[in-house]
Amino acid sequence: MKSTRTIFSAIQRKEILTQLQAKQFDLLVIGGGVTGCGIALDAATRGLSVALIEKQDFASGTSSKSTKLIHGGLRYLKQFEIGLVRETGTERAVAHRLAPHLVLPEKMLLPLIEHGTYGKLATSFGLKVYDILANVKGKDQRRMLNKKDTLALEPLLNEKVLKGSGFYAEYRTDDARLTIELIKTAARKGAIAANYCKAENFIYEEGKVKGVQCKDEISGEQFEIKAQQVVSACGPWVDKLRKINNSLEGKRLQLTKGVHIVVPHEKLPLNYSIYFDVPDGRMMFAIPRGKVTYIGTSDTTYSDNLNRIIVTKEDANYLISAVNNAFPSIHLTMEDLISNWAGLRPLIHEDGKSPSELSRKDEIFESDSNLISIAGGKLTGYRKMAQRIVDLVIQKRDDLAFVSCKTRDLPITPQPLADSNAVENYIKKLKAQVAEHDLAPYYAWYLATTYGTQADMILEKMPTLEANSKEIQLLRAELWFSVQHEMVQSITDFFVRRTGRLYFNIESIAPALEVLLADLQEYLAWDNQRLTQERERMQELIHDATYYYAEEMVAKSA
Ligand code: FAD
Repeated sequence: MKSTRTIFSAIQRKEILTQLQAKQFDLLVIGGGVTGCGIALDAATRGLSVALIEKQDFASGTSSKSTKLIHGGLRYLKQFEIGLVRETGTERAVAHRLAPHLVLPEKMLLPLIEHGTYGKLATSFGLKVYDILANVKGKDQRRMLNKKDTLALEPLLNEKVLKGSGFYAEYRTDDARLTIELIKTAARKGAIAANYCKAENFIYEEGKVKGVQCKDEISGEQFEIKAQQVVSACGPWVDKLRKINNSLEGKRLQLTKGVHIVVPHEKLPLNYSIYFDVPDGRMMFAIPRGKVTYIGTSDTTYSDNLNRIIVTKEDANYLISAVNNAFPSIHLTMEDLISNWAGLRPLIHEDGKSPSELSRKDEIFESDSNLISIAGGKLTGYRKMAQRIVDLVIQKRDDLAFVSCKTRDLPITPQPLADSNAVENYIKKLKAQVAEHDLAPYYAWYLATTYGTQADMILEKMPTLEANSKEIQLLRAELWFSVQHEMVQSITDFFVRRTGRLYFNIESIAPALEVLLADLQEYLAWDNQRLTQERERMQELIHDATYYYAEEMVAKSA
């Protein structure tokens, strides 16, 4: 049996909150998205004492709402963002090496169509440059395919307008899982991190930020955290914190909303991920994943509620018509949608540019009172963004010797698998095990690509828990694991961000909901009022993921 020593247990929350108040840290990070968790990990591995607080759950902001690709951003080549493409392109391979079960190679097909965004020569050249910038080698290098070969790979494409395709390599991930593994690893390296703790104000000493006043969003208690240096990695909320710090001047964020819809895989049974043309001149992804295919994204200016981003009928119809245009035999309708999600890109405003034209590069703001803020960028570039921030934090300290970044070779899960072959072999091993548990083979793939070898702990726990179906027994074991090891404080943390079931296996939630609520009530000693709130919150999220609002409803919710 693998070690069950708990480092990041929800049961230890009180102890963690006490530790947050016990000393002055070298660094306090506000925001538990991929950027903040990456910074906490980088700083902890360089020997800094680190605290991190997140106002809701880890990855509850943009870092669970992306297209979930670890990609170089091919389209940024068109905008001549060479530096961004080179950095994210190179980082793809690093991320894959650090977590091969979570950052999976994914072949992409870019169909070339009449009057499309990319012509044959430009695509061939662009993908070649992309490979060179990202140092793609061997059989993963791009291939240009003719119409016949393209249709052989993907018969659902529109034969009438298809001219050929580019076939190239990217990676797929689960953004929320990546974020949680980063913060777990940071905690193993000594960082003290808590979800559901909101930074409400800054503490100043001689005009410099030296900590925050924060609120425990579960108990309502207020407390202070002291630190030599504070970094705000609050994504779409960065300007709110800059405003509290009286430093909101110069460049500002412009938020754009990106929506994804999910359909059963049999409704859009793609063999490969497709990066296809939309009639308005944009490009969109359709990505097969387990039981589903998801499609996204839209890109529209957003100024409503940051904490609840809902999907409108207009958003859904835009994505549906894009699919029907690219895959004419599919005839997708609103009734086919089984889930959705919407996220906000924290981009830097540039006068006169449309949402899709704004740069995806990250930006660092330093205030006179020494608050460092970082926003923008990509999931894919999280490690380099963290490196830049921690370099800056150390350089600002006269009393700290410079230590260089250590995350390039640091696996981000315990007992990591070595490479893609090891992942394949592990899935094979799990197939036999899930069969013994009377579970469908899908669960071998799901467990391996969600938890890596931590799935062993879950499968060992399963027989000790009672349930009237094998699926519910598995869910009880997953919940036990995520409470003990992944700081789950709410049923929504579990169904949305630890397991992705709200998006990728939504039908598994209802039959298990009451059993899992009862488990959480016991694990976390909830009273009945909290239990009711949790049930209602989960039902609200299921509603938002399956309902399409009229525009006027959105205005009301803001
Ligand atoms: P967030 O994830 O938003 O984290 C900020 C956190 O700060 C939040 O969790 C929030 O709750 C917390 N916070 C805010 N205020 C406070 C406070 N007062 N106290 C404590 N905590 C606070 N990138 C890719 O590489 N690949 C993709 O495929 C991709 N697709 C995308 C698709 C869409 C639709 C969008 C919107 C983005 C996409 N991105 C992609 C970009 C990527 O998702 C983001 O760059 C990244 O997730 C941003 O992470 P973050 O940590 O900076 O922000």
